[in-house]
Amino acid sequence: MSGWEAYVRKVVPYVPGEQPGQQGVIKLNTNENPYPPAPGAARVLREFDADSLRLYPEPDCGTLVRAIAEYYGLSPEQVFVGVGSDDVLAMIFLTFFNSEKPICFPDITYSFYDVWADMLRIPYRTKALDASFRIRKEDYYGESGGVIFPNPNAPTGELMELPEIADILAHNRDVIVVVDEAYIDFGGESALPLIGEYDNLLVVQTFSKSRSMAGMRIGYAMGNAKLIRYLNDVKYSFNSYTMNRTALACGVEAIRDKAYFEETRNRIIATREWTKGELKKLGFSFGDSKSNFIFAAHKTVPAQEIFDALRREQIYVRHFNKERIDNYLRISIGTQAEMETLIAFLGSYLTALSEDGQSSDGHCETEQEPENNRE
Ligand code: PMP
Repeated sequence: MSGWEAYVRKVVPYVPGEQPGQQGVIKLNTNENPYPPAPGAARVLREFDADSLRLYPEPDCGTLVRAIAEYYGLSPEQVFVGVGSDDVLAMIFLTFFNSEKPICFPDITYSFYDVWADMLRIPYRTKALDASFRIRKEDYYGESGGVIFPNPNAPTGELMELPEIADILAHNRDVIVVVDEAYIDFGGESALPLIGEYDNLLVVQTFSKSRSMAGMRIGYAMGNAKLIRYLNDVKYSFNSYTMNRTALACGVEAIRDKAYFEETRNRIIATREWTKGELKKLGFSFGDSKSNFIFAAHKTVPAQEIFDALRREQIYVRHFNKERIDNYLRISIGTQAEMETLIAFLGSYLTALSEDGQSSDGHCETEQEPENNRE
């Protein structure tokens, strides 16, 4: 080992889902939206004045901040924007999780939290979800350096109701509580109305899922003006020009087009509910996801086998090789047609397996229920 290597900040990085390059793939592995962004965003790109790229973008992201504030009925001082909610969350970790006491988050959750904590040397403690993969609010009552959880949680899709979140806030008055609402638009109730009552609450959302703009990288945090000021101080100390000109202009169009947002969001919800019914008929079990994905286990066939079979068909879903969840697949909701293709394939694949009486690795099928059979 060279001498300098002792001084490297060594990290185990987050591993994002695969982005297969080839055409014709059904991509249900990274919770993207299958529909295009709002037409106004495409128009901005078509008409974009490339000459303006000579100039730095607005450091305060003012046009986009104002548009988001207007949409939610907030003042611009209550909104912070960043390069996807990953950037926003990283800034939040850096700014607010600065205590000797460990921050708390669920054991099964967004797998970036422990990566940021490790990178920034933030102590943390994970709290086990219950047997139905639900967050137990009581686990977050004790002293800590802060609390963060997604709602709905990822990758489970389980939603917490607002009174439970208010209860966690009431028990954590002296630390920052972050509710990561990447998937809230697909059927949950946002904690945003609580920011007036709790000056320690940050609600984080993204344009990547319900607004079909994962490729543009826009995320935002909402909270009281003091929190947002602290967040901006750290952001300006790190990189003052985070958002590029095209992202700012497209973001404004996307947030203003409420009708398009509602139409595509409702289509995804309808397809999700249809997919739940079909998966159930095929012997899958899952919680009542309120997100744009379903986290499902099959009653007899191991997740890894189904994952491999789907991949051979060019259908990509996500499988986490992690304790407690390694028999589950996280299936993002695509278009209705994509989900019909998925279900048709699973139907014939599972039928062929049961006719063989064996799973594909040669083991005899057993009638054992999966450990977490909740339906
Ligand atoms: N939070 C959660 C729970 C997520 O699943 C994701 C998506 N990977 C993000 C935040 C980050 O999304 P983005 O950076 O695209 O806004």
